[in-house]
Amino acid sequence: MNSAQRPSRNGTPNIHVSFEFFPPKTEEMEASLWESIARLAPLDPTFVSVTYGAGGTTRERTHATVARLVKETHLKPAAHLTCVGATRDEIDEVVRAYAQAGVRHIVALRGDPAEGPGSTYRAHPGGYETSTALVAGIRAIGDFEVTVSAYPEKHPESRDLDQDIDVLEAKVDAGATRAITQFFFENESYLRYLNRVRQRGITIPILPGIVPVQNFRQTSNFAKKTGASVPQWLADRFEGLENDPATRRLIAAAVAAEQVLDLVDAGVEDFHFYTMNKADLVYAICHLLGLRATPTSAPHVIAA
Ligand code: FAD
Repeated sequence: MNSAQRPSRNGTPNIHVSFEFFPPKTEEMEASLWESIARLAPLDPTFVSVTYGAGGTTRERTHATVARLVKETHLKPAAHLTCVGATRDEIDEVVRAYAQAGVRHIVALRGDPAEGPGSTYRAHPGGYETSTALVAGIRAIGDFEVTVSAYPEKHPESRDLDQDIDVLEAKVDAGATRAITQFFFENESYLRYLNRVRQRGITIPILPGIVPVQNFRQTSNFAKKTGASVPQWLADRFEGLENDPATRRLIAAAVAAEQVLDLVDAGVEDFHFYTMNKADLVYAICHLLGLRATPTSAPHVIAA
């Protein structure tokens, strides 16, 4: 493709984005989260999602953040929910509370074993045994949009990619309407995965999960636990910058820009950003994707 034919150079009117946040632990983190939300909201994301801490540790904080998004913004929030550490009845109660709070979208996950990724997962006694069962349970309670995970490099516990795609198919059969992928750095792995998923007749949107590398060491440690590979070329790009945060940020922007623009050239139009509750880098990448703050008579974030 010569550069004149590159969609990323010729205006990309159909780009849609969504943003993921985690629930804040302290007042200071809360202030910084809401600043980030206020900055990103005018980009008109399809939805914004709020994660659920390992073992359900953030249940109240996730709920409070999602409820505030419903009450004080015009954004469409999605609440993450896992099967870990709770009975079916307890989880169903959380789902009903979301419905009452006006939440219509849940990201349904199995969650990690209590001892952390890498150890054997055991379902909670009386709990949902798998993410598939959780999807079915949520759909039985109400008319929710249900998003699930997808793993272009397979989930570390899966035997192979085929078994992983079997699980995705089961989640779709149970009522999942969209998937978000684990983050990846080699676009080829996402595009190959997408191809295999489509060949299996799975038609739901599979949003690529993009992680801007705010901190290389942290990202590669996290990647090891989740089974996402970190290519040598990426390590090389951040090499020697441990004590140079300003250059690291510029490199992070360049790396993420290259990744998303390359995906646009491959025909991708929807992106999910793992924001780490920081807006600047994600805002810049969205700007490169052609998104502009939408002027509106109503504020996107209503002051508390
Ligand atoms: P699943 O799709 O349930 O698969 C997990 C493993 O079980 C796979 O190896 C699969 O092959 C296997 N499996 C499933 N069903 C069967 C079956 N019937 N037979 C045999 N094997 C089976 N974690 C949190 O704690 N909180 C969050 O908010 C959170 N958000 C996330 C968002 C995204 C987009 C992603 C990609 C991950 C997120 N995670 C979160 C991490 C996730 O909880 C872990 O990766 C967890 O280990 C797997 O849960 P899952 O629902 O992603 O996987």
